Amino acid sequence: MSLPVWSQNESVKFTVLKTGSIDPLEATTLQGGSWFKRFPMTHPAFLIEHPKGNFLFDTGLGTKAKEQVQDMVWWARLATEFNQDVSALEQIKEKGIKLDRIILSHAHFDHSSGVVDFPDLPIEVTVEEMAFAKTKDASAAIFPSLFPETVQFKTYELEAKEYEGFPKSRDIYGDGKLVLVGLPGHTPGSVGLFVNLSIEKRIFLVGDTVWNADAIEQGVPKFWFSKKFVDNKPDEVMLRIQELQALQKRSPEVLIVPSHDARSVAKAMELAK
Ligand SMILES: [Zn+2]
Repeated sequence: MSLPVWSQNESVKFTVLKTGSIDPLEATTLQGGSWFKRFPMTHPAFLIEHPKGNFLFDTGLGTKAKEQVQDMVWWARLATEFNQDVSALEQIKEKGIKLDRIILSHAHFDHSSGVVDFPDLPIEVTVEEMAFAKTKDASAAIFPSLFPETVQFKTYELEAKEYEGFPKSRDIYGDGKLVLVGLPGHTPGSVGLFVNLSIEKRIFLVGDTVWNADAIEQGVPKFWFSKKFVDNKPDEVMLRIQELQALQKRSPEVLIVPSHDARSVAKAMELAK
């Protein structure tokens, strides 16, 4: 068996930029969770550095997050709480890194709030996500102040190329190191990103398909109330959870990282050290 190309060269760098956090009760994050235990959640932007280019996978909360939430419908605003940290823009400036683009897991506020901070970069979303963002169904978490005219969206289509059990994919630099796959359900155009640092070090960022990694192990959805408001197609989310379970069984070395699960994100940071 020949080794995949990415095993020969460990030149991808993965860094988590934390932009905010919340500390809800575990029960609000998954079906059957505890009403007595807190579940630390984070709002990350993931910085990916590759010899052919650097990009952010999601932006987390941007410099305008507090103003943007004022534009939310009242009930969504009441349900949206966060403690804000330093924005991805400020952290990128501090590091002196030049970015080429931003790729969104999906367009919801807590993942795209920082897009306005990068008016010079193309913001890549799937064709399906762009279409969804314009519908009324999306309006609680995708609203006008998120995406003013200055935001340069660039839509793309995933190829009908199976990758790790997911029927649609896109190999970003053509070397198998960074591969996007379709994860429709939470939103119609949601994508996940495989970050293949080496044969043993593989991270799979799954956006908001689940909030809590235990949901994959237990095969359960989000808490019913949360699910009702955030998951566009709950039945499809369940299919994605089953695919993630199958993936974990086949490829136990893959670290599956739900965006907001602070424990999983910490494990990914540790793995990428
Ligand atoms: Zn989210």
